[in-house]
Amino acid sequence: MAKRTCLVTGGAGFIGSHLVTRLLADGHAVRVVDNLASGRLQNLAHLGNPPPAGLTFHKLDIANLPELTPLMQGVDWVFHLAGLADIVPSIQLPAAYHHANVDGTFSVLEAARAGGVKRLVYAASSSCYGIPTVTPTPETEPARPQYPYALTKFVGEQYVMHWAQVYKLPALSLRLFNVYGPRSRTTGAYGAVFGVFLAQKLANKPYTVVGDGKQTRDFTFVTDVADAFVKAAESEVVGQYMNVGSGNTYSINRLVELLGGPVTYVPKRPGEPDCTFADTGKIKSLLGWQPRVNLEKGVAEMLKHIELWRDAPVWDPASIGEATKDWFKYLKA
Ligand code: UDP
Repeated sequence: MAKRTCLVTGGAGFIGSHLVTRLLADGHAVRVVDNLASGRLQNLAHLGNPPPAGLTFHKLDIANLPELTPLMQGVDWVFHLAGLADIVPSIQLPAAYHHANVDGTFSVLEAARAGGVKRLVYAASSSCYGIPTVTPTPETEPARPQYPYALTKFVGEQYVMHWAQVYKLPALSLRLFNVYGPRSRTTGAYGAVFGVFLAQKLANKPYTVVGDGKQTRDFTFVTDVADAFVKAAESEVVGQYMNVGSGNTYSINRLVELLGGPVTYVPKRPGEPDCTFADTGKIKSLLGWQPRVNLEKGVAEMLKHIELWRDAPVWDPASIGEATKDWFKYLKA
């Protein structure tokens, strides 16, 4: 396989760091661009110190177009994963989300265009579907973002598609469903369920199950997601967005059963779907990608790495009530 020069925005983040690891293992050279707002150099520490010869790190805000543009020189593949995640902070700080996810994406597209890159793959979010009317959800389902995070990631995707259409930028977008795996974020805002539950397990505290726990999520393991990015870069498909999911949907009660331990309950949140479940027919037929890690295998892997969550905040119903106040305030019907 030809060796490529890759640029990964958000390469020090959770998913980005797995993609960087995979690209280096495939023998490619990688430039990481990350402003370390939520990414951490620690996420790349397993690659060794000093870092491998093929890896360079550039601390930079992706919206800084003058400084980003020269970094695109000689790049074959761009993977654009930098961005701000999480629901509540996006409601509280929409300007920061617009800057990172919309202005940032615009800048990455313009820099990539100036650099004449061969492929660009964008990390989009399944949150664009809001509360889907069809499950498994195909890409033909209309977008109905429910909060600024979902909106800004979706607008970013629209920019990517538009640059493919107008400027013939060879770009694709992957709509990621509930990605989990080692190095998922352990600090900051109340967020993805795996980090919440693993920190509770380590502290011998009950899992804070939302609602009755019968809601289901398409939990997708991060190495499968990294593989989807690689397949997207290797393909010649352009101007398409595709779902990336596990091929299944699992209830929170099932997750609790696999993790083991007592539960407590917190109220169901407005704007939350009862089921997320990707129809993965499109990516299977266009890219030949398929997921390999089911929830049982994925949870076993998480438990092997549970010490990574040792310093993560331990949430309880009271602190969750406080942290999600604005969620209820703004999103209730
Ligand atoms: N969830 C839960 N307890 C928590 C946090 C989340 O039961 O403390 C549930 C939540 O209701 C949802 C699933 O876990 O069904 C995934 O939540 P997450 O916030 O990770 O992702 P999203 O809701 O955006 O799919």
